[in-house]
Amino acid sequence: MAQVLIQSLNKKFDEVHVVKDVNLEIRDKEFMVFVGPSGCGKTTTLRMIAGLESITSGQVMIGDTVVNTLPPMDRDIAMVFQNYALYPHMTVYDNMAFGLKMRKFAKDDIRRRVQDAADILDIRDYLHRKPRQLSGGQRQRVALGRAIVRHPRVFLFDEPLSNLDAKLRVQMRIELRKLHERLGTTAVYVTHDQVEAMTLGDRVVVMRDGRVQQVGEPLELYYQPANRFVAGFLGSPAMNFATVRIEADPGGGFVAANEGLRLTVPPRLTDRVGPYAGRELTLGIRPEDLHIADASDPPDLVFDAVVEVIERLGSEALLVMRVGKDAMVASVEPTVPARMRDRLRIAINPERLHAFDMETGA
Ligand code: ADP
Ligand code: MG
Repeated sequence: MAQVLIQSLNKKFDEVHVVKDVNLEIRDKEFMVFVGPSGCGKTTTLRMIAGLESITSGQVMIGDTVVNTLPPMDRDIAMVFQNYALYPHMTVYDNMAFGLKMRKFAKDDIRRRVQDAADILDIRDYLHRKPRQLSGGQRQRVALGRAIVRHPRVFLFDEPLSNLDAKLRVQMRIELRKLHERLGTTAVYVTHDQVEAMTLGDRVVVMRDGRVQQVGEPLELYYQPANRFVAGFLGSPAMNFATVRIEADPGGGFVAANEGLRLTVPPRLTDRVGPYAGRELTLGIRPEDLHIADASDPPDLVFDAVVEVIERLGSEALLVMRVGKDAMVASVEPTVPARMRDRLRIAINPERLHAFDMETGA
């Protein structure tokens, strides 16, 4: 067990700066997920922790040891990749035992560790098969098993579920979480999938273009995103954004308005939007914070929308709407009696309204 401490970490490939001043403390026993779009530097960061990629500047510590120049073998980590990286000519047993044999573990110890891991992962019956005789899900279990038998101080995962079909991915996600509860080994997990990040992570690091955007517990990121990028990246369907002009309301407070909206800014946001009076900013509204208005909704939080598409998903219906010039999506109850081209009155939940600077996104 160990914490991982990353300080002022940078990576340049020639002159291309791909990991930029990353600072992060991954706590002992924590399941930490790195999430961000393809190419943002997740894998490179993970590979620097693993020792598979050299560090341009900065420091990585595992436990009390600075590992910057330690070879991967000596870092006491185990890595699981997207492509499983199994040896095709070896049995499942030998695949799992290989790393231990290389490290000269005693035969009995190897047998016990492989059996234990096989029990945990429910692959006991496949130990004598070759990888090609297994399904994708079973292969991924073997890859996990190979990591588990090492009893490493830290697990490093790079998109380990990406090659599985959607249903299996959900199942394996739950198994991974259970496995973590059981073993308690510190884990660093890289994915581009925000649902995986939200469901697996004790905490989540959102990265963009080599930089950490925000670190926090999943719901903290969801409800208090540090900027427009984090707000838009987490959540499905994504947050709605609308450019509005902020005007001081003669009756006190502020109004946010554009071609299709005219909303009283909730008191909670007064300090936030005050400096923007006479200027524009971006409002952020999550689809679940919109609903079809009724008599109980204050008129200054209601606007007109035209329904362009309805997606009925079973557990919810998504209304894809036009509001002035903007497209907006509302998540409403699945049996909503709306039809395409209907003009509806939509109300917002003022508790969850977000505001972002147009230039910086902050
Ligand atoms: P992610 O895992 O978030 O998709 P990567 O860490 O793989 O992103 O890549 C980050 C950036 O670094 C990308 O622009 C990628 O093209 C570049 N990159 C990754 N590995 C190399 C390499 N070995 N040589 C040059 N550029 C690389
Ligand atoms: Mg990657």
